[in-house]
Amino acid sequence: MRGMEKHRLTVLVGPTAVGKGTVVARLLELYPEIYLSISATTRPARPGEVDGKHYHFISREKFKQMVDEGDFLEWAEVHGMNYYGTPRRPIEEALESGRAALLEIDLAGARLVREQMPDAHMIFLAPPSWDELVSRLRGRGSETEEEMERRLQTARLEMEAQGEFDEVVVNLEVDRTARELASLMGLA
Ligand code: 5GP
Repeated sequence: MRGMEKHRLTVLVGPTAVGKGTVVARLLELYPEIYLSISATTRPARPGEVDGKHYHFISREKFKQMVDEGDFLEWAEVHGMNYYGTPRRPIEEALESGRAALLEIDLAGARLVREQMPDAHMIFLAPPSWDELVSRLRGRGSETEEEMERRLQTARLEMEAQGEFDEVVVNLEVDRTARELASLMGLA
């Protein structure tokens, strides 16, 4: 860390299958002092998901209460079904205490954060090429054809929004990408 200088909030956005999860996991392994924001959601936990680790799983009533009280930096209804939001306090506290803070959300959420925090550092994680993204998604084999089409559609829109970001990092190799992010975050 650079003396008592505070970090800017870093917002990381990237299309499906770009390897965002893997890169963030490696980044946290290298720099455990980073605060990674945990979103709140009204959707039920999937098998293996841990409350307070992957998400804060909360009721609709509680979510609405948090919205009313201004607890979220941004929130959205995703797929017209469930609500997702970024709790504001833990991020402010992390930044206040001199920690670097990282948000991994979708493009719409990132735009809302930028409106609220114009100082946020917006980073886009891009695949080496469009074809590479398609083959990574197909290689994963975890989605139906329809789901893949939907994800690629969203990915296309996200790729088109690259110009809105402060930095574009191409994910060629996990470790290298994680170190590049750390450097952009002022950690390396
Ligand atoms: P999932 O239910 O698969 O975990 O996430 C569904 C979608 O919600 C993903 O596109 C993810 O990026 C988005 N999401 C997760 N947390 C948040 C959040 O706090 N705010 C916003 N705007 N989107 C989120």
